[in-house]
Amino acid sequence: MADTRGWEWPALRTKILTRDNFQCALCTRNCGHASHQYVRGIAKCDKLDVDHRDGNKANNDERNLRSVCRSFNRGGKACG
Ligand SMILES: [Zn+2]
Ligand SMILES: [Zn+2]
Repeated sequence: MADTRGWEWPALRTKILTRDNFQCALCTRNCGHASHQYVRGIAKCDKLDVDHRDGNKANNDERNLRSVCRSFNRGGKACG
């Protein structure tokens, strides 16, 4: 997947993950990490990704973004 979103994305991703309390919007499970490491303000979480609800990766409106399990975002499969 080409990443043309630039430097703003990691910061925005961190903002959305934090907003959602590192909880998946689909299965409502928490990623399971007791705490998160932040590198230069960017949260490190290998369980969750931020998904564009409308599939348009250019639409970075916060209302269009949600935290989901990485397995869902990468494979389009159900969480689990
Ligand atoms: Zn999930
Ligand atoms: Zn996590």
